[in-house]
Amino acid sequence: MKHKRSLEALIVGFVLTIAVSFFSTKIAGAVLAVSLIQMFLFYRCPHCGYGLYNVCGIMPSCCPNCGEDL
Ligand SMILES: [Zn+2]
Repeated sequence: MKHKRSLEALIVGFVLTIAVSFFSTKIAGAVLAVSLIQMFLFYRCPHCGYGLYNVCGIMPSCCPNCGEDL
């Protein structure tokens, strides 16, 4: 999965979590957990694998570790 897809999946996961929490907090917790786990797995620099979740703000334009464009 590309890091941009992973970020989109994270945002969708948060929205789903809020929507599902009206019905079931357990399912909402599961949705939140899955979206966070996929972020840790896939939201990384495609060049060096540096975790972009370590970076402040949404989607840096270049990798803070190796300096490559994202
Ligand atoms: Zn990098």
